[in-house]
Amino acid sequence: MLYDKKQCSNGNDMTEIKETADEKQQDFIREQIKTDLESGKINRIITRFPPEPNGYLHLGHVKSICLNFGIAEEFDGECHLRFDDTNPAKEDQEFIDAIQKDVEWLGYAWGTRIYFASDNFDQLYKYAEYLVKTGLAYVDDLAAKEIRELRGTLTEPGKNSPYRDRDVNENIGLLRRMKSGEFEDGSRVLRAKIDMASGNINLRDPVLYRILRATHPRTGDDWKIYPTYDFAHGQTDAIEGVTHSLCTLEFEDHRPLYDWLIKHLPVPGKPEQYEFSRLNLTNTVLSKRRLTQLAQLGHVSGWDDPRMPTISGLRRRGVPAPAVRDFVSRLAISKSEGTVEAAMLDHCIRDYLNQHAERRMAVLHPLKLVIENYPEKKTEELVAANHPGDDAKGTRKILFSRELYVERDDFMENPPKKFYRLAPGREVRLRFAYLVTCNRVIKDKAGEVVELRCSYDPETRGGNAPDGRKVRGTIHWVSAGHAASAEIRLYYPLFEKPRGGNGDDYLENLNSNSIEIITGCFVEPSLSQASRDKPIQFERTGYFNLDESATEDQLVFNRTVGLRDSWAKGNPKK
Ligand code: ATP
Ligand code: MG
Repeated sequence: MLYDKKQCSNGNDMTEIKETADEKQQDFIREQIKTDLESGKINRIITRFPPEPNGYLHLGHVKSICLNFGIAEEFDGECHLRFDDTNPAKEDQEFIDAIQKDVEWLGYAWGTRIYFASDNFDQLYKYAEYLVKTGLAYVDDLAAKEIRELRGTLTEPGKNSPYRDRDVNENIGLLRRMKSGEFEDGSRVLRAKIDMASGNINLRDPVLYRILRATHPRTGDDWKIYPTYDFAHGQTDAIEGVTHSLCTLEFEDHRPLYDWLIKHLPVPGKPEQYEFSRLNLTNTVLSKRRLTQLAQLGHVSGWDDPRMPTISGLRRRGVPAPAVRDFVSRLAISKSEGTVEAAMLDHCIRDYLNQHAERRMAVLHPLKLVIENYPEKKTEELVAANHPGDDAKGTRKILFSRELYVERDDFMENPPKKFYRLAPGREVRLRFAYLVTCNRVIKDKAGEVVELRCSYDPETRGGNAPDGRKVRGTIHWVSAGHAASAEIRLYYPLFEKPRGGNGDDYLENLNSNSIEIITGCFVEPSLSQASRDKPIQFERTGYFNLDESATEDQLVFNRTVGLRDSWAKGNPKK
């Protein structure tokens, strides 16, 4: 199957998608690594996945995880899990724990190779003093606003700070006093002394350290100054022995600074940075900041709300890890920006679940069906296949009785021509059971159909008529006296427009009907033993899993994905 621009229903500029998942991974980064190994530039490849623990991981991060861990696996190298914990104002142990759980769930192991940028705070500080002593960094007393004003623009050079030419001893003294907590937060910074006229704004004396009193999840209140991302990242790569530091394109303009610092510091390695385009997905948002906002403002129930594109949200919705990996393996690793259709992810989920999910029957909108010629107290055990294409998944027994529930939509009083399900006088097949004919309809005072009175043909057990008469419709059902009641939650995209998650007004584009909670559903009694990580297909309805809020008394199921893709066909639930 080839996903290309032509298939994109919404006319967006879609990113390249590979034909199949099992194509050998090939991209400019892997090519570079091959060259570096063959030329002897490196002996062993070391990559890292470097999350900042200030939120939960989302599908964009999965692209980076699969790339970094995948490359390490393919080239017999290693991948570090590195926490980029240099901004304690926003970071938390909760996120450190959640990130580990998520990476593990995806199927990647870091073994002993778990690192924290904060483990290097002492060394990084020594590097800072080294830069000062070599005349390559200075303490600036300007306020953040003034620094910004002097930075210049893309078309105009910046101007030197009046503190730029302080002598080395004064700088060292001030830096030490910053470290010992003598100065107010934000009152001074350490800056690299590079070039205020550089065409690359990142080289206009970037900030390396700032004063910040915040309790760090690992170093507590030991530090009053913290390194910036730019200062910590490359040096941490070098200390850890990382050979290829893979990141997203927004860091491309930071690479000259990355290289400058590595060149001017006595670091133990020479990592190189390579950038690739980030994953964007339609009808959602892949930015920790925005996802945090959605959770904090109560637009979703939390980070693991099944509508969220977070790993925890996907997991709670019942998306299996192999389907996520399959999806990501189809993404091109390149430098061209684009947006992938969410329908593609659904396709991968469906593809996996179709093979792995056992089938069950569930009625979401029940309508009572009474079989008048079936004995009142009788119950029969019927045999149902757990998977139509996989005999190894075995069979189960289902109970049949006089009173059943069927889906309200499977009955029409005045059906159009091509409606093959129940209607007055019409015969249908009850899945795994018998052929039944609707004889009579009972309505309430408002004229609403509340019950169907039917008769069954006892000769049709299993669903086939011995005389060979044709019955086109097959519908699902549950036995009213035996079924377990359940709440079923259906999910729709968070944003109505494909690009809805972009732009500053993204909150205005939220789909106000992204969740539909259906109570009073009935499911096969065996589902009271459903387990959260075992996906199920409710026949004719979709793939579901048990929600973590379910209790013994109240079953709750999430629809992971529907059977067919109504969203991509331009028929969204609004
Ligand atoms: P966000 O933009 O969501 O806030 P981030 O880049 O700040 O994410 P980090 O924790 O710094 O989050 O990211 C860890 C790694 O994941 C980085 O190397 C980053 O480049 C990568 N990454 C983040 N978002 C994406 C994405 N959408 N596609 C691919 N890689 C991503
Ligand atoms: Mg980041």
